[in-house]
Amino acid sequence: MIAATHSNHPIATVAAATPRTSPLQEARACIRQAKMRITKPRIAIIESLLQHKGPISIERIHHDVGAAVCDLVTVYRCLAAFETLNIVRRSYSHNGTCLYELSLGRDRHYHIVCKACGETERLDYSPVEGVERMLQDRGYTQISHVIEFFGVCAACQKTSSRAHGIKTGKSKRLIVATPSH
Ligand SMILES: [Zn+2]
Repeated sequence: MIAATHSNHPIATVAAATPRTSPLQEARACIRQAKMRITKPRIAIIESLLQHKGPISIERIHHDVGAAVCDLVTVYRCLAAFETLNIVRRSYSHNGTCLYELSLGRDRHYHIVCKACGETERLDYSPVEGVERMLQDRGYTQISHVIEFFGVCAACQKTSSRAHGIKTGKSKRLIVATPSH
C-alpha cells in the first residue's frame, strides 16, 4: 500500500486544479443546466469541496462555508441535489459518517481512509471492474455499490509507535452493498 500523504494545503489543491474549464465553471454549468439557481451557499459548498483533495464530511463543508452563509440543513439539501446531478459523490468513513467529494460525472474511483487521522488517498484501481457489466448482463438496471477501504496510514503508525511503543496493525474492510433491483 502506498503511504498516505499528509499535505492538505487548500491553495496547492486549487492551483493544481485549473484546466481549460475550471471545476467551478463545470459545476456552475451543471447547476444551470438543472435549472437551479446559482446561490452563494451552493458556490461556497463547491469551493469547499475544491479545497480538499479527498472526500469530506458535511460538518467540515459547513465549517468552510461558514454559519453566516447558510445553516447545516441547507448544506445537506445542496449536497443531496448535487448528488442527483452527479456533481458530488457520496462515500463513508469507517464510523459511517457521510463524506462528499466533487465528481462532476467523472469515472468512479475508490479511496483508502486512515482510521487514525482521517486522511484519504485515492486508489487508481477498481476492485469491481466487470462486476457491474456482469450484473447488467443478468438484467439488473440502476446498479449501485459502496466500497470503502480503511486502514492506518504509515505516518500514523510511526506516530503511534513513537507515542506508545506499540505497533499498529494494518486492517482493511470492504463493504459491498447489494444492488437495488
Ligand atoms: Zn493517518
